[in-house]
Amino acid sequence: MRERDDKERRIAKITGNKRYYTGNLCPRGHDAERYTVNGRCCTCAYMTYQDWLKTRKKEFNAIQRASHAKHREKQNSKCKIYYKEHKQYFRWAHQDWRENNYRSDILRRMVRDKRIKYATPPWVDLLEVTKIYLKCRETNILTGIKHHVDHIEPIAGKDRCGLHVPWNLQILTASENCSKKNKVTSANS
Ligand SMILES: [Zn+2]
Repeated sequence: MRERDDKERRIAKITGNKRYYTGNLCPRGHDAERYTVNGRCCTCAYMTYQDWLKTRKKEFNAIQRASHAKHREKQNSKCKIYYKEHKQYFRWAHQDWRENNYRSDILRRMVRDKRIKYATPPWVDLLEVTKIYLKCRETNILTGIKHHVDHIEPIAGKDRCGLHVPWNLQILTASENCSKKNKVTSANS
């Protein structure tokens, strides 16, 4: 039995498999795969992990949280630097995502169109609204920086919703708008 175990494990090591199967029962009687790294039964390991979860998890999480709070600023600044250095990669990943998930992208746009439709009162002067959008496009071309038309009071806010009317619209740069999301900026609230 032991010899067969060792043989299978050696094969797994050579082929690079993380687990191997012998067909023999483990000392606790499980008919399960073994880990190549230490020859342990997977079911036994799983049970040990479950036991650990019950007894030590809360404690462990508390330690992790405390450590994170302690190093938060350092970690955040690291992340920011990483993001700046790899910005193009994130963009490509996002483009890939959009190409692969074009259905959900269409859905998102549909939802947005519907929201705008419901937020537009019948008495609003649509010409004025269009003028703002045209001005935004003009600014895009003149400055070469991407601008968005933003709702000062978001039309999909958490506890209150704005309207799609000229005095609730402002032109922001794309980055300002994206960092604002659906919050009311303090200067405008
Ligand atoms: Zn076992």
